[in-house]
Amino acid sequence: MITLFEQSNHKNLFFNDLTSGEMVQANQHLIIDNEQIMVLDPGGHKVYPKFISEIGKIASVAKVAALFFSHQDPDIVAATNGWLMVTDAKAYIPGLWTRFIPHFGVDDYLIDRLIPLPDKGMELQLGDTTLKILPAHFLHSPDNYSVYDPYSRILYSGDIGASLGSPEVVVTNFDEHIKYMEPFHKRYMASKKAIGAWLNIVSKLEIEVIAPQHGSIMKGKDMAGKFFDWFSKLECGVDLITEQYNF
Ligand code: FE
Repeated sequence: MITLFEQSNHKNLFFNDLTSGEMVQANQHLIIDNEQIMVLDPGGHKVYPKFISEIGKIASVAKVAALFFSHQDPDIVAATNGWLMVTDAKAYIPGLWTRFIPHFGVDDYLIDRLIPLPDKGMELQLGDTTLKILPAHFLHSPDNYSVYDPYSRILYSGDIGASLGSPEVVVTNFDEHIKYMEPFHKRYMASKKAIGAWLNIVSKLEIEVIAPQHGSIMKGKDMAGKFFDWFSKLECGVDLITEQYNF
């Protein structure tokens, strides 16, 4: 467990070592405000029991009030049913994916606790903090969201800013870090236009930390600025298709 932020009744924690074997490394995040817990992108079946037991060491799992799914990938949603069974939490899921996530096996009696996120995003109250769920469509999923916590000034960016294979928990040198992000972003992110729409929203926020769902954390305004600058110029996805696939 790694603490990203802690002040009075507000804590932001994450886990980066609960995935194993051939699973893509994934981070699981927690926001705790006045004992209410939000779990962000909880993960699949092998992560689920470890994550539940880690939460149990710091709080009661019954205090999990909200589950957030940035998009529909299995490394995020596969254990939805288990989470709904052991908590009374509501699961905030992208609206377009509400009919697909039940394919992972969500029991009919739990289905009413899946709350579809509207396209434009929404505000979500957790304890005394109003979290902002922001649209990040096509980055990479067609219905995709980021979360901004205005108290800690952490932007939970989902797959945006994700890195694979980086040895660092926190990025120290942005230029050195690009090689761990670039192949993933070029293939998974839809287009420059989608990036521009997201940057228009997040560039207005005070950001101290960018916390993606895979790999290293980017800390400090300077680092966040460097990431946004790099991302704004990235040719990716359909930008790279001309007459034929460009592999
Ligand atoms: Fe994904």
